[in-house]
Amino acid sequence: DNTPSRHFIEQAIDKDLAEGVYDHVHTRFPPEPNGFLHIGHAKSILLNYGMAKEYGGKFNMRFDDTNPTKEKAEFMDSIIADVKWLGADYEDRLFHASDYFDEMYEDAVKLIKKGKAYVSELTADEMREYRGTLTEPGKEDPNRNRSVEENLKLFEDMKNGKFEDGSVTLRAKIDMASPNINMRDPIIYRVAHMTHARTGDKWCIYPMYDFAHPIEDAIEGITHSLCTLEFEDHRPLYDWVKTECEYKNPPRQIEFAKLYLNNVVTGKRYIKRLVEEGIVDGWDDPRLVTIASLRRRGFTPESIKMFVDMCGISKANSTAEYAMLEYCIREDLKLKAKRMLAILDPVKLIIDNYPEGQTEYLEIENNKEVPEMGTRKVPFGRELFIEREDFMEEPPKKYFRLFPGNEVRLMNAYFVTCTSFVKDENGLITEIHCTYDPETKGGDSADGRKVKGTIHWVAAKDAVTAEVRLYENIIDEEKGVYNEDGSLNLNPNSIKVIKDAKLEPELGNAVAYDKFQFVRNGFFSVDSKDSKPGAPVFNRIVSLKSSFVL
Ligand code: ATP
Ligand code: MG
Ligand code: MG
Repeated sequence: DNTPSRHFIEQAIDKDLAEGVYDHVHTRFPPEPNGFLHIGHAKSILLNYGMAKEYGGKFNMRFDDTNPTKEKAEFMDSIIADVKWLGADYEDRLFHASDYFDEMYEDAVKLIKKGKAYVSELTADEMREYRGTLTEPGKEDPNRNRSVEENLKLFEDMKNGKFEDGSVTLRAKIDMASPNINMRDPIIYRVAHMTHARTGDKWCIYPMYDFAHPIEDAIEGITHSLCTLEFEDHRPLYDWVKTECEYKNPPRQIEFAKLYLNNVVTGKRYIKRLVEEGIVDGWDDPRLVTIASLRRRGFTPESIKMFVDMCGISKANSTAEYAMLEYCIREDLKLKAKRMLAILDPVKLIIDNYPEGQTEYLEIENNKEVPEMGTRKVPFGRELFIEREDFMEEPPKKYFRLFPGNEVRLMNAYFVTCTSFVKDENGLITEIHCTYDPETKGGDSADGRKVKGTIHWVAAKDAVTAEVRLYENIIDEEKGVYNEDGSLNLNPNSIKVIKDAKLEPELGNAVAYDKFQFVRNGFFSVDSKDSKPGAPVFNRIVSLKSSFVL
């Protein structure tokens, strides 16, 4: 298939397979367990998994745990949950870079024996100074020409704990005059007396990313090592390592552009601060775009996949709009979610001519665009709740909802005409009175008379009172993500908690992650952290109005 719609990575893989460079495809997702994954990582997960799947190949999950200071078990658990949730099935292929510390050590010894690595005593500051700049070549390390024997001995001493942190390093011997600074004798091992979550105190030397990554890929038999654009300049080093360590059928690195969202915080540093300062309710706060947040907010894996696909795979950096992500979840849920009755800002509506104490059950379609979703019975009675904004004492022009003397349709129920209302001492409307026309059951009149407004309702006697949370961007979009001092420019209204929303009774049984459309109010999902059995808390995923046009 050579249709132009194939992205450049597919084209590269097609070519490799056609030319026999590889006879299969094997990819991996290699996160560092130092934070929660975000929407950008979803692109990497779905791309790597997607390529394996498309070509009938394999996909590995691998923790890049070569940096023991930053790793946390909590992060590993969350990453696994996120990858599984997105549907990227690694079967039993869950690996850790630390599984290969022995091989990495052996490879370093091999490089030393080939005269391709040496132990350096430069301090970090000296190292920086010797490295040179983009316009000036680097200077040779005074230790660059140590003998193989001496290097072997010193490296063994490094391994055996004879040096303090930062006092020596192992450097690859490549080219101090290379125009690519990454090739100017990069450090490949450092001394760090740290306890590793998996290898404990076995090692006090740890490999650097650029040395470790190609080895991890090669050991696992990865064919296409897909990574983001900032590693493009590291590819010559990736290739140098795989060649000098003499791996057979070595993997190939291909870089793609990161996914960025406009006006959205993804930086770990910033999220960490928000969590620590208690501004958000953890890494999975529904206002963030970590995968855990998106899941908790109510996004589906399908919507995220649609979004990532719409963003496309390319080499050019670009930013997507959050509104596009919202578009995707609306598209996904509009034909899947039941359309329910829920009042977010309730005020009582009393039908004075409806029999007192009577409840009738109206049959309502679950989703009028999808008849196969069936119907449900919803109680209706003399006292209802409606949205406060659906009544006005003195309506402006073109207001077609309730006002004294006006007739409207109660969705799927009856026509009602407003007769009066009651206010408290503060001028707040506490009750609206109306009469109904029994001949309009189901929402249509027998005599063909029309009404312009349709409002929704919930029967007061049977209503479930629940907490509903409405969200806005945690960033104040007017002024951008960062303030001049580098702090986040926060929106003080990013969460609105409604304690007494009135919902139709069936919603009282909803459980974590259940998703609904609340008619006229948007799509909602049951919060997984704060809901209790019989007392669901609802997060608004997205309103029904779209600012995004395809
Ligand atoms: P950090 O060094 O701060 O941890 P990171 O989150 O980019 O940065 P990893 O945890 O190593 O680093 O990420 C795992 C994989 O996800 C990497 O291959 C990385 O390139 C990819 N990735 C990270 N951010 C994005 C993004 N915004 N869009 C696409 N892929 C991304
Ligand atoms: Mg990361
Ligand atoms: Mg990283």
